[in-house]
Amino acid sequence: MPPLTADKTMDKLVSLAKRRGFVFQSSEIYGGLGSVWDYGPLGVELKKNIKERWWRSMVHERQDIEGLDAAILMHPKVWEASGHVSGFTDPLVDCKHCKNRFRADDPRIKGTPGQPDGQCPVCGSKGTLTAPRQFNLMFKTFMGPVEEQAAVIYLRPETAQGIYVNYLNVLQSSRQKIPFGIAQIGKAFRNEITPGNFIFRTREFEQMEMQFFVKPGTENEWFGFWREERMKWVEGLGIRSGKLRWHQHGPDELAHYAKDAYDIQYEFPFGWQEFEGIHNRTDFDLSNHQKHAGKKLDYLDPKTNERFVPYVVETSAGADRTALVVLCDAYREEEVRGHEAAEGEGGGGGGDQRVVLKLKPSLAPLKAAVFPLVNKDGMPELAHRIHDDLRRHFNVFYDDGGSIGRRYRRQDEAGTPFGITIDGQSTQDQTVTVRDRDTLKQDRVAAGKLVEYLTQKLAG
Ligand code: ATP
Repeated sequence: MPPLTADKTMDKLVSLAKRRGFVFQSSEIYGGLGSVWDYGPLGVELKKNIKERWWRSMVHERQDIEGLDAAILMHPKVWEASGHVSGFTDPLVDCKHCKNRFRADDPRIKGTPGQPDGQCPVCGSKGTLTAPRQFNLMFKTFMGPVEEQAAVIYLRPETAQGIYVNYLNVLQSSRQKIPFGIAQIGKAFRNEITPGNFIFRTREFEQMEMQFFVKPGTENEWFGFWREERMKWVEGLGIRSGKLRWHQHGPDELAHYAKDAYDIQYEFPFGWQEFEGIHNRTDFDLSNHQKHAGKKLDYLDPKTNERFVPYVVETSAGADRTALVVLCDAYREEEVRGHEAAEGEGGGGGGDQRVVLKLKPSLAPLKAAVFPLVNKDGMPELAHRIHDDLRRHFNVFYDDGGSIGRRYRRQDEAGTPFGITIDGQSTQDQTVTVRDRDTLKQDRVAAGKLVEYLTQKLAG
């Protein structure tokens, strides 16, 4: 098959995501809302599986990390202290002629914005671009009935600050000692100027962040530790290792709070891009909150009696971007040979094309689909009984529509790892066939052993 261009692959993925109910454009019947997306029945399961995997490895499997769910709305002074009011900005230019707005570093801009040679990439006018102005990426709203400056609050642009302002509450209530961490999954909002690439850069998204509080002087060691841990976790999602790499931020890339930062990048169809960052945030946030709030946020080490403001190593991942990594990595177009090609819609035994999401079974939204071969001879009754039984353990789908080949293809696109077919033999001896999505091999399994069979296959 000829190699796909980047755009085509993304277009195909976006269309599969819609067709199978992973992701829909927000407010689609009104023409959509820019860079905001809704997760459908399969998408919500996929994202939930990723988030649960993260929570399990970060919170449940570790004794030194606690969970938190802080509110999205926070005191506006939080964002002054954190540097987001003054520093969370992108330089923007406007075209006075066509009224479009661009990032000042948009590669399509020719010449210098604000100068006569600056050329608008949309309408082509020269000298109509303004000089760059700083634009804050935080969404503003008003709290209470009066829309005045004093009532301005922000939708959080990162979940981390909810952790910092609660760090003493968590420390004291959980009786943790430093080093320890706080983990949180939640929505964040950024009024991005150049959003795009599907769910890669959106204006509303979910973050999975963990802040690890350490004694100053030990942060480099912990920084190394968390880099290793996070890469292991990402590899555990089943991502091909050749598609993953590290990127260390140069001095001009570092966020206003960071002293050192590494991104985990994935090779998306549109190029290598970050989907998780590990940051050494020093004592930047806690010291600033201490100053702005006028409250002590230092820690008394019970062993040495030293007092210090902890340093923070942050691991910050996007749940949506990780879901996109998982989807891109799983997407395959294949030629099917052998018995399925002969049974498939193409028929004729000469081969058949299929689109398949080779999702790690434990991440797949649906774990199995149950198919009565035909809708008669006792097969639907047995199939319903099996479906009811499996549903108590797994998210399982029932499908009796169309040829068996067509039903397999639909589940291939959904990434469902197992297809359970109830055929003529099943009603005689209570066995079914289990078809493996990736190898297309079929096992004959006793209906009563299906829960055990699937449990084993779904582990990991
Ligand atoms: P980028 O430069 O790509 O916008 P960033 O460096 O600003 O990302 P961080 O502030 O480090 O990102 O956020 C941590 C993680 O949150 C990112 O790795 C990404 O997975 C996720 N994230 C950040 N911004 C967005 C967004 N607009 N849409 C979706 N996910 C995002």
